[in-house]
Amino acid sequence: MSEAYPIIEHKYDVVVVGAGGAGLRATMGMAQAGLKTAAVTKVFPTRSHTVAAQGGISASLGNMGEDNWQWHMYDTVKGSDWLGDQDAIEYMCREAPAAVLELEQFGMPFSRTEEGKIYQRAFGGMTTQFGEGPAAQRTCAAADRTGHAMLHTLYSQSLKYDTDFYIEYFALDLIMDKDGACKGVLCLCLEDGTLHLFRSHMVVLATGGFGRAYFSCTSAHTCTGDGGGMVLRAGLPLQDMEFTQFHPTGIYGAGCLITEGVRGEGGYLVNGEGERFMERYAPSAKDLASRDVVSRSMTMEIREGRGVGARKDHIYLHLDHLDPAMIEERLPGISESARIFAGVDVNKEPIPVIPTVHYNMGGIPTNYHGEVVDLKNGNPDAVVPGLMAVGEAACVSVHGANRLGSNSLIDLVVFGRAAALRAKDVIKPGTAHAPLADDACDAALSRLDKFRNANGGQSTAQIRDDMQRVMQDDCAVFRTGESLQAGVKKIGEVEKQMADIKTTDRSLIWNSDLVETLELDNLIRQAVVSMTAAENRKESRGAHAREDYPERDDENWMKHTLTYHSDEEGVRLDYRPVHDYTLTDEIEYIKPKARVY
Ligand SMILES: Cc1cc2nc3c(=O)[nH]c(=O)nc-3n(C[C@H](O)[C@H](O)[C@H](O)COP(=O)(O)OP(=O)(O)OC[C@H]3O[C@@H](n4cnc5c(N)ncnc54)[C@H](O)[C@@H]3O)c2cc1C
Repeated sequence: MSEAYPIIEHKYDVVVVGAGGAGLRATMGMAQAGLKTAAVTKVFPTRSHTVAAQGGISASLGNMGEDNWQWHMYDTVKGSDWLGDQDAIEYMCREAPAAVLELEQFGMPFSRTEEGKIYQRAFGGMTTQFGEGPAAQRTCAAADRTGHAMLHTLYSQSLKYDTDFYIEYFALDLIMDKDGACKGVLCLCLEDGTLHLFRSHMVVLATGGFGRAYFSCTSAHTCTGDGGGMVLRAGLPLQDMEFTQFHPTGIYGAGCLITEGVRGEGGYLVNGEGERFMERYAPSAKDLASRDVVSRSMTMEIREGRGVGARKDHIYLHLDHLDPAMIEERLPGISESARIFAGVDVNKEPIPVIPTVHYNMGGIPTNYHGEVVDLKNGNPDAVVPGLMAVGEAACVSVHGANRLGSNSLIDLVVFGRAAALRAKDVIKPGTAHAPLADDACDAALSRLDKFRNANGGQSTAQIRDDMQRVMQDDCAVFRTGESLQAGVKKIGEVEKQMADIKTTDRSLIWNSDLVETLELDNLIRQAVVSMTAAENRKESRGAHAREDYPERDDENWMKHTLTYHSDEEGVRLDYRPVHDYTLTDEIEYIKPKARVY
């Protein structure tokens, strides 16, 4: 294989795949630790999806009222519907204020209060007094363009260090040795078609989510879960893939996001009868209940014939009662999106919205140091040597069955940093690399070669469309045994079509046809394991709402799902226990109870 595809070899201590918020924070930390680091990214760093984050980043700074990390932890555990690992959640919430102040010191242009402190807004599920008090103002914001401000800040900071950026390089596959340790990653340079093997003592996957498995989602076209695809092909599992977050307010039709910050600033939802229906579903938190609760309530209203519009198939989001000066200062981006994508002037009319796929709670299982874990000899927390994952690609798991808004941006920087702290402990800079087996890259090259020359009967675009529609219909806000069983069958049939795929461009220079096909191959595997895991979990928890099993069942299902996948054997399921302990005795394990808002 390597005769047809000559490989250029690079040697590093660490290679980080992905340069969004998580990848950049990890890269900086690795360089600070004196580790020779490469960052590989398929798009220019500041084009990563993190740039699109709007509403903000959570941390209990207490700038706008009393707050502390224990309250933040309680809300996150409750938001996760008790599927989150409490050691990891404690770590994140405790580290959050320092992580945000670090961003401030890096020069991130936060919005400010009158006294010049970082401005914080209310967000769904964020409360005070362990859920007993009023809403917390905990979400630090740079107007409604927080991700833009954060990503540009991190990129400019990361240029201070002696790191090599490989921009517009597409990671194909992990290179594993026979003992199951990761030894590097094989990449394709998109510009000239050369192949590059990055040898390293640690590969960090920071490749983001896989929202594009669905037809309508808020995430960028590049969110194709490439890290998850690579992990499955390496024989490792993904965790909790049945939990997909639907954001309540995607623009009807276009799918673009309208941040939860709109409701944090006083916006509210209205049905076809002009009623503020959230008061019925969540009497205390109302429009600021957590996302799964609001998305389900909207779907119920529409189903029961109380939607808005000619087809009564969506809901209105009002902010026309709010002060236009406030909107201009704090929500300028969504005013523009509403004008362009919905033709609406937010000062005069409501925005038509519908629950839209937004975030993947599931991903590559890790501990709170970012190290990838797998079941081994009865140990559910066995570390996979040489491999880490951070950001949306990972499942730490701090978000459990449902992520709270603004808890992803904080997850990126807290665990990006944690991964670097761990790498500093386990890698001695400049350690020599043991030779690899001659055929180490063969499987990855065969896959590339197969898709490059694929000459079947179906286009990549057609198969992708089929996959996205099956996911949209059968792995939706509400699920039933029947629709999930049909979904497992249908998605399996779409997967089979991959053997009959056709690519038309045979070159290796900017071959977007080939890249989209490789991305689809990553997506389809994750679509298959998501649907299978959803069919398998016979309870309702967080974002996974089954009409045939409407209750949470802690006795049988308080456990993480692991899904393995191979072309020969399909999906295999297993489980890991949820960590029911905290890191320190400064907070006790938060015991499960009913989740009402
Ligand atoms: C519209 C929108 C608004 C959001 N708003 C908020 C918010 O206000 N607050 C909040 O907390 N969360 C928000 N989220 C969620 C949050 O923004 C994301 O979860 C987070 O930014 C993901 O960051 P990441 O670093 O993991 O990945 P990304 O930012 O998606 O970056 C992925 C990186 O991986 C690289 N990559 C991927 N595949 C490959 C490959 N094969 N080879 C090489 N490189 C590869 C890409 O080039 C990119 O650099 C929002 C999400 C969306 C979609």
